[in-house]
Amino acid sequence: MLAWALVGLALGVAAAVGLCAWWLRGRIAAHGAWWRHALAALVLVVLSWWLAWDWPWAVVLLSLGVTGWGLSRVLRLTRHMRQSLDEHAHARAEARRAKADSERDALTGVLNRGAWRARLERLAEDTQQDGRPLSVLFFDIDLFKLINDSLGHQVGDDCLKAVANTVAAELRGGDILGRLGGEEFAVALPGARRIHAIAVGERVRMAVQKHCQVVGEEVVELTVSVGAAEYLGPEESFDALMDRADRAMYTAKGSGRNMVVADAATPPGAH
Ligand code: GH3
Ligand code: MG
Ligand code: MG
Repeated sequence: MLAWALVGLALGVAAAVGLCAWWLRGRIAAHGAWWRHALAALVLVVLSWWLAWDWPWAVVLLSLGVTGWGLSRVLRLTRHMRQSLDEHAHARAEARRAKADSERDALTGVLNRGAWRARLERLAEDTQQDGRPLSVLFFDIDLFKLINDSLGHQVGDDCLKAVANTVAAELRGGDILGRLGGEEFAVALPGARRIHAIAVGERVRMAVQKHCQVVGEEVVELTVSVGAAEYLGPEESFDALMDRADRAMYTAKGSGRNMVVADAATPPGAH
């Protein structure tokens, strides 16, 4: 009776080894092919079964052996599985970090042009689905070349960081800030109509004027000119939307700088 119980136990453990090895196939390549573990387990079980007819005492020893061997295999395989899962998690985290880095502007830490544009497109889809408006702001630092020329490129870089940080602090959670290049930035404002975009633009403009007067040791008196435009819906291309915001920004430049100008267009039915 005991012998058969042990055969049953050995059978169970051997089956567990086989299953475990099969489940881990490919993930523990260094540990040998999965079918070798399963085959070894099967051979040992059949052998103990066969011996059980003639030498019951032999089956006790063999079953105990199979059980011990099986348990040690399961433990080893589990340890390998944990290791390989850790390695997978590590590799995934690395890939995520690399992707996040590739989306960021190295100087200011905000999204770069390509990533900002991709986010804008995703936001446009989401807001359209929810029936919510979407607006964009474009802003450009005023007379930035003068700062670079008079105080040097390093101070210029510090100014860019100061402006990005100041603007980021003025935005809401879902708003997306990006650096389009040089001293030009953009913000996507989900849920904002033209009138709200003007208000946010004004807030951003005033914040820069207030908080970017001194950068490092230098008095710089930074200001920005801001263009705002509301997305007209799927019939409008993103290039056309960005062009309207860009033109509004240049109107602000032409009207004396340090101001917000909004493109006049609004989607049909908007109020
Ligand atoms: P406006 O008010 O009309 O925008 O005048 P502006 O001087 O800001 O415009 P302009 O386009 O003539 O000059 C932009 C300057 O921005 C010139 C360029 O050297 C500087 N710039 C662009 N990228 C960087 C950067 O990464 N670091 C620094 N320090 N300067 C930059
Ligand atoms: Mg400029
Ligand atoms: Mg510019």
